Amino acid sequence: MIQNHNKPIWDVVIVGAGIAGLTASIYLARAGQTVLLLDKGKHPGGRAISTEIAAARVNLGAHALSKSALPILKEVGVTPTGSVPKPPGTLVFEGTNSGYRAIPLAQLLLGSFLKWGEKCQLLRFYSSLRKVDTSVLHNVSLQTYLETLVSSPRVRSVVFGLVRLSTYCDAPDQVSAGAVIEQLKQDQVLYIDGGWQFLVSRLTEQAQQAGVSIRTSSVVREIVGGYPQMMVSLKDGSQLTTRHVISTAGPMDTLALLNPALTPMEVEAYKKLTPVRAACLDLVVTGMPQPKTKFVLGADYPLYYSNHSAAASLSENPANEVVHVMKYLSASIHSDPTQDEHELKGFLDFIQPAWREHVVQQRFLPRMLVSHGIVAANGGLPGRPGPAVKGRPGLYVAGDWVGAEGMLINASLASAKEAAQMIIAGREKDKEGMYHGA
Ligand SMILES: Cc1cc2nc3c(=O)[nH]c(=O)nc-3n(C[C@H](O)[C@H](O)[C@H](O)COP(=O)(O)OP(=O)(O)OC[C@H]3O[C@@H](n4cnc5c(N)ncnc54)[C@H](O)[C@@H]3O)c2cc1C
Repeated sequence: MIQNHNKPIWDVVIVGAGIAGLTASIYLARAGQTVLLLDKGKHPGGRAISTEIAAARVNLGAHALSKSALPILKEVGVTPTGSVPKPPGTLVFEGTNSGYRAIPLAQLLLGSFLKWGEKCQLLRFYSSLRKVDTSVLHNVSLQTYLETLVSSPRVRSVVFGLVRLSTYCDAPDQVSAGAVIEQLKQDQVLYIDGGWQFLVSRLTEQAQQAGVSIRTSSVVREIVGGYPQMMVSLKDGSQLTTRHVISTAGPMDTLALLNPALTPMEVEAYKKLTPVRAACLDLVVTGMPQPKTKFVLGADYPLYYSNHSAAASLSENPANEVVHVMKYLSASIHSDPTQDEHELKGFLDFIQPAWREHVVQQRFLPRMLVSHGIVAANGGLPGRPGPAVKGRPGLYVAGDWVGAEGMLINASLASAKEAAQMIIAGREKDKEGMYHGA
């Protein structure tokens, strides 16, 4: 880095050492940029950390890694191991007296729960997925799209359940059908050995090896100016000079940091993003009353149950298994954490009666932020804000709400890579005297 009156000038300061910040930092440092990665937390990792509970690695709620995330992870030197979980063995519908009714997946196609015509609708929907031209569906909601294709409410319920599973999003009237179908077309997912902390630890190692400086417990308060002279102020009063900034802090937090503020149009694009949230009950258990019941998904209910130890090594003690139970929270209905916890425990009572006797330790996480933005049916994936912030040379954003590619971690990885590549390409032009910041 260049020294200016004893003050270093960084090529890039990155706000946030989650998956996006760590990934961007590796690309940049490997390309010869001086990079400072700041996080307000005590450790890197953001929402991808796992905590040690009863000698097991427990993610913050159920996390599954789409295999389509592997190429970027491999590029930055991270190769997770783990297994593909078996599909949900049971779907849960509304039964008599508003109680639950469990239907084994095989029975859905072979039994009498669905009529012949309904089975055909379900098979037709899934067999045609790969051929769907999603480019014409960015502005169509999933609900509208499904209503034109699938007349049976029961089959629509099954599809909504599987959509929630792969997107975490319970807003069929708001989410873009194009984005959802792209997500459903993705390959399988992996439960990762050692939990998502494996990703965080390896990314951190790779960043350090590439020469990235990482400072935790560093709260960024303000980002001032534009390329080539930007200033990042921290809560402790220190100020850092840099040519570029990448903020991975999320749309609303990023807006609050910027001086001057963004244009009203850009502010609007950030503010209209609707967060995706989930209520999570994380358990470490010894066995379960119904050991063969590994994966259950609500069709009429936005509920999820999965034993992650069935597909990943998460504890040195094989007797301790990690089970995640989750409620996908609706974007439009306000949820009450106490009721959500009660509902999750009631769901467990139905799937695994007497589960309480098997619990070693449990933790309830209400209203967890899964993603900063639903991919909305007004613009779809191409309509999301891009990594380069318009009108602010030198300023970039990355995260699960940025860029035209993917959802969840795939979006964080793709936007981080894109932001880094834009900066690297700009520096090349700069050397030729052609670059003006974005
Ligand atoms: C319950 C749950 C389940 C999930 N399941 C899946 C799944 O199955 N599959 C999947 O792909 N994804 C899943 N996700 C989403 C995935 O965890 C995130 O998309 C991903 O971790 C986001 O990484 P990020 O770096 O973009 O953001 P973050 O992890 O949020 O990182 C941003 C970082 O910025 C820091 N920061 C913010 N403001 C400041 C500031 N002012 N100063 C300094 N630092 C700051 C924060 O401390 C944080 O570390 C799940 C998330 C949750 C919560």
